[in-house]
Amino acid sequence: MKTPKLILLAIIAAGAFGCAGSNSTTETTTSTTTTDAYPTLSASVANKTASINGTTGCITNVNTTMDSALPTRIKDNFKCQVAYVSGTNYIFKSANLPNTTSFYWAGKSEYDAGNSGQYALFAALPNGTGSANAAGTNVISSESLQLTIPATPTLKTGTLSGTQNGLVAIGLTLNGLAIFNNAAAPPDNLSTEALTFDGFDGHPQNTGIYHHHAGVRKVGISGTDNNDANLIGIALDGYLIYGKKCDNATAATGDDVTLTASVGTSDGTAANITGASATTLDQLHGHTTTTIHLSTPTYHYHMALDPTATIDTLMGSYFRGVVGSVSN
Ligand SMILES: [Zn+2]
Ligand SMILES: [Zn+2]
Repeated sequence: MKTPKLILLAIIAAGAFGCAGSNSTTETTTSTTTTDAYPTLSASVANKTASINGTTGCITNVNTTMDSALPTRIKDNFKCQVAYVSGTNYIFKSANLPNTTSFYWAGKSEYDAGNSGQYALFAALPNGTGSANAAGTNVISSESLQLTIPATPTLKTGTLSGTQNGLVAIGLTLNGLAIFNNAAAPPDNLSTEALTFDGFDGHPQNTGIYHHHAGVRKVGISGTDNNDANLIGIALDGYLIYGKKCDNATAATGDDVTLTASVGTSDGTAANITGASATTLDQLHGHTTTTIHLSTPTYHYHMALDPTATIDTLMGSYFRGVVGSVSN
């Protein structure tokens, strides 16, 4: 991981929460060589003056560039990031700046000093005054996330890849934000860490990487907390991640399928992943059906109650597919 850039605060102390398995250096480094034919993200954003561009819907200075060669499910849905085809992979690059208000644009020190009002995108934590004490000292920073994701995902056999083994991110949301796993920094359970989520269900870890473990309200239907069939993002193995319902392969919402989450946990062995049907998810929050984006039955994930986290999360403890790589 490179040193985070463009941080207003000179020192970001280790936070009260650390998001186990997702804040350490990446276990892999990308070996993809690209010519960088697509522009790198211009993200010279100062937290204090950060604003949302009303036309693009992204943070001002964060551009959306989608390679025309990408499938429509990618290029018509993802924004506030750069994505392009590179050989057998899709490359996603993101400055990882939330296009939403957040407590963490200013952070606890500015809040305590009474300065948070000077930050255009500052918003109190949803639990109200006092919950700032739970927020730790973390503050949003610009990143240079790069995810190399297989264009044609494949189900892994044998031992599955864990989502908690030190990856910088395990996926990316439609609005270009890191997806983290179903764990919190020990000894916390993610349900405890969830008390620090901002009004859009995200928060930054100790080096400023803003991320979602659970809900992504910005891309769900307003007010449903992702209890819908909307696309949320893509996992590092290339499989799509949806809200808590399955869209039944139609644009209509009246026929969306309510899903039952697995009550079991995975032992990390592909052969022991069981229980999936059109209405029931396996131990990794996934099943294989058609969706409005997948015309042939294809594996995909859903936000679901996770036995490890004890709250709804986007991903379980393992990837079902062969994973790409991620760097920052
Ligand atoms: Zn976290
Ligand atoms: Zn589904």
